[in-house]
Amino acid sequence: MAEKGLLLVLSGPSGVGKGTVKSAIVDNKVFPFEYSVSMTTRKPRPGEVDGQDYFFVSEAQFKAAIDQGQLLEYNQYVNHYYGTPLVPVKKMLAEGKDVLLEIDVNGARKVREKMPDGVFIFLTPPDLHTLHLRLENRGTEPEDVIMGRINQARTEILVMQDYDYAVVNDTVANAVDHIKAIVDAEHVSVKRV
Ligand code: 5GP
Repeated sequence: MAEKGLLLVLSGPSGVGKGTVKSAIVDNKVFPFEYSVSMTTRKPRPGEVDGQDYFFVSEAQFKAAIDQGQLLEYNQYVNHYYGTPLVPVKKMLAEGKDVLLEIDVNGARKVREKMPDGVFIFLTPPDLHTLHLRLENRGTEPEDVIMGRINQARTEILVMQDYDYAVVNDTVANAVDHIKAIVDAEHVSVKRV
């Protein structure tokens, strides 16, 4: 059994549905864990709550957090900064709690360098066409941003081999079931005794 909590890193291309899958896990309390709330300089979308979905900060505040070493990782993505506050993650793991991060693939690579014991789960779209439709249907981004995100997704899919697990997001329920199975298995893995 693990002496400290598992660091669960959910990543994959933008638009693959990481946010939806994460929310399904959070809302349905699929397994016990703490969610790591990221810091971002992008503006809140309708319905998003500061301190719950993200900590929404200014660029100056974000840069101060970088300078003060407050972030486990950060990334600039489509003109905005996103980062994971370090102290809460370390504290929760030390308390034996599993911690879930939902971050982009660049951030996941940086986390893997610092915390290789993490469980790295790559969420894949059934195909890129589906990804395009999902981004369009979300309707929150203009077309040039969608194309930027799709090009980024092509590159991101190539990095899948660096992960411990790949989960296809065909339906949210299936993806959540697979992630729960992964977490259950990791808890009894002899590699962690
Ligand atoms: P969105 O703007 O759609 O909420 O997120 C855009 C991208 O940023 C998504 O791929 C999301 O997973 C990623 N992201 C969210 N939080 C973090 C973080 O703390 N660090 C990194 N590197 N990426 C993040």
